[in-house]
Amino acid sequence: MGIIPELSVAAGVCAAAGIFSWAAVAPSSQLFGSTIRHTGDLSTIALTFDDGPNPAVTPALLALLDRYNAKATFFLIGKWVRAAPVLAKEIAARGHTLGNHTYNHPALTFRSRASISSELNQCDDAIESATGEKPRWMRPPFGFRSPLLGGIVRKRGGAGVVMWSAWARDWNRHPPEPVIGRLRRVTGGDMVLLHDGDHRVLEGDRGHTIAALEYWLPRWKDAGIRAANLDELYSQK
Ligand SMILES: [Zn+2]
Repeated sequence: MGIIPELSVAAGVCAAAGIFSWAAVAPSSQLFGSTIRHTGDLSTIALTFDDGPNPAVTPALLALLDRYNAKATFFLIGKWVRAAPVLAKEIAARGHTLGNHTYNHPALTFRSRASISSELNQCDDAIESATGEKPRWMRPPFGFRSPLLGGIVRKRGGAGVVMWSAWARDWNRHPPEPVIGRLRRVTGGDMVLLHDGDHRVLEGDRGHTIAALEYWLPRWKDAGIRAANLDELYSQK
C-alpha cells in the first residue's frame, strides 16, 4: 500500500508539469497572462517574422512585402541587431513594426525575473541604438512563456506579449511545398508565425519561407485579405 501515495504524488507532479508546459508553450493558453494572437479583424492578417535580422534573407523579404504593399511585424534578436544594425533600421524605415525577441534567444520559462529583464533590456537597447525607437511588443523565444513574463512586460510599459494563431513550421530548412501547404489554413484575423532568421546562425537559409510567401501574398491580396503590422492593428486598442 505504501507505494500508492508515492505513485499518486508522482502522477500529480506529472499532471502539474504537463499543465505548466502547456501554459508555457500553447499559443492559446492565457494561464500565464493574456497574450495577443489575432488581428481582431477578419479583413486582415498579421505576418510576424522571428529571429532576424538576417542579411541573407531579410532584404529579399522586404522587397517582396513591398511588391504587395504588405506590412509585417519583425521580432528581432538583439545580438543579430548588433551584427546588422543598418538592416534593422531598414525594416523599420519600410513601415514594418519591430518587436523584442530577447538578446540571446534563451527559453524564458524557468529564468529569474532579473535574467528575463536583462534579456529584454539588452534587446531593447540594441533596437533603440539601431533605429532610434524602443519596441512596444515582445515575443518569447520558442513561444516559451514564464509566469513572470506578462507582469515584467506590462511593468516596462510594453504593449504586450504576442503569440500566434497559425504557423508554417518554417524554422528548419526544407523545400517550400510543406510551408505553402501549412499556410493554406490561414484565414482573415490570423496572426501567422514565420521566420526570416535563425537563432543559431546569423545568415540561416529561409528560402522556403520566401518561396511560400511568393505563392501566398498575391493570393491573399486577391482574396481581399490585407497584411498589416501590429502598430496599425492595435493603435486604437
Ligand atoms: Zn525565435
